Amino acid sequence: AGDLSGRNVCVAGLGVSGPPVARALLARGARVTVVDGRDDEASRSVAAELTAAGAEVVLGATPLPQDCDLVVTSPGWRPDSPLLVRAAEAGVEVVGDVELAWRLKPADQMWLAITGTNGKTTTVRMLEAILRADGRDALAVGNVGTPVVEAVLPDAGGHVHDILAVELSSFQLHWSESLRPFAAAVLNVAPDHLDWHGGLEPYARAKGRIFARDTIRVVNTADTWSVRLAEEEGDPHAPLVGFGLGTPRAGELGVVEDLLVDRAFVDDPGTSAEELAGLTDVQPRAPHNVANALAAAALARAAGVRPESVRAGLRDFTPEPHRIAFVASSGGVDYVDDSKATNPHAAAASLGSYRSVVWIAGGLLKGAEVDDLVRESADRLRAAVLIGADRARLREALEKHAPHVPVVEVDAAGLPEGRTVMDAVVAEASAAAREGDTVLLAPAAASMDMFANYPERGRLFAEAVRRAL
Ligand code: ADP
Repeated sequence: AGDLSGRNVCVAGLGVSGPPVARALLARGARVTVVDGRDDEASRSVAAELTAAGAEVVLGATPLPQDCDLVVTSPGWRPDSPLLVRAAEAGVEVVGDVELAWRLKPADQMWLAITGTNGKTTTVRMLEAILRADGRDALAVGNVGTPVVEAVLPDAGGHVHDILAVELSSFQLHWSESLRPFAAAVLNVAPDHLDWHGGLEPYARAKGRIFARDTIRVVNTADTWSVRLAEEEGDPHAPLVGFGLGTPRAGELGVVEDLLVDRAFVDDPGTSAEELAGLTDVQPRAPHNVANALAAAALARAAGVRPESVRAGLRDFTPEPHRIAFVASSGGVDYVDDSKATNPHAAAASLGSYRSVVWIAGGLLKGAEVDDLVRESADRLRAAVLIGADRARLREALEKHAPHVPVVEVDAAGLPEGRTVMDAVVAEASAAAREGDTVLLAPAAASMDMFANYPERGRLFAEAVRRAL
């Protein structure tokens, strides 16, 4: 698909990836038809822009356009969507935005790729910071920030970045056939998006696609799936590099006392080790985030980055909002916004970072189980405040595995005028908290039943905290 001029390409979905994909295709001379089943004000305004740029846009229906020779699908579309089924029946190739970008990219642009259930955005940002501290012309691309198709074409000044730190979702990997990153990491695999993929195994296998022929394999030694995917889906001849929070063995990155240490990308992994950074250079300094920093360091070292640039980059890194973000402190109680903990595995890491927690949770569980999470975290819980559609499942798990923990449910429906859900949540949480506790928003669930998205959920929480203090 490298040569697109004059080809009829259908872009399925006008969401996040659709518009940049359509623009990239138009820039390459393709004839572009964008289709989306929605027909609301927001989609009409995007449609008007794309029409002005030369695309044809169909709203309110998703027909497969006539004479279409390639479909570029929004990664979120399921393979059983009618348009994609029709394309498959007609023998029309279907690819995702990442696959398209891979085919369009300059041959000498290096891709360092990251996937995992949790920690992707944080890790690509850390990697970008480390590469830049080393003087490299690097850019982080993915769900947050620059879309990947934009980063493979020259910008307004005619410039294309040398190295991309690429965040990849399981959906994007599902639709990426020929992707071959220089080096790739699977941070972790835990149940999420099971309804889309149809189970944990297909979800994990989709992630395994990141390990292609020749791709340097970076794996989390504490995560069974990460290691398994590298062994079963990866290239057995490509280097295998482990990272973990313990003392590193030869061929691994790890932690020795309070230092991040490299025993993989050194002259003699049998005997030598290279100091990369201190634990205090990792922000925020939670155990799972040290793992993210080690993964970023491993990919950077695979690309030839000097050891001292790892420390400099981690110090330059600014943590992303709504990820274990400190909001305020009052009466010896800290209030922390981890709204991005949208699945049980993320919430477990988050809860594990504190000793005594008033836990705010609930929303859409997307088919995930919460028993393990509650069982593992039971000892740390002072109280729980539950919101959202699937809160009954959380309450049942708490009653079963943490019967000592007081549980309050806040129902959006029954609130007096002018009082928001988050006001009620914060009031309940503050009443339950004692000095030294952390009030932690780590919902273990998606937000869309009550909020536009996780940033809005986090912002409303932080605003309610500030109002209350
Ligand atoms: P992603 O882009 O994969 O969603 P983020 O970096 O945005 O990842 O982090 C999402 C959430 O997952 C954070 O709010 C944090 O609670 C949790 N998290 C981050 N890194 C890890 C990790 N390595 N293991 C488990 N949970 C993590």
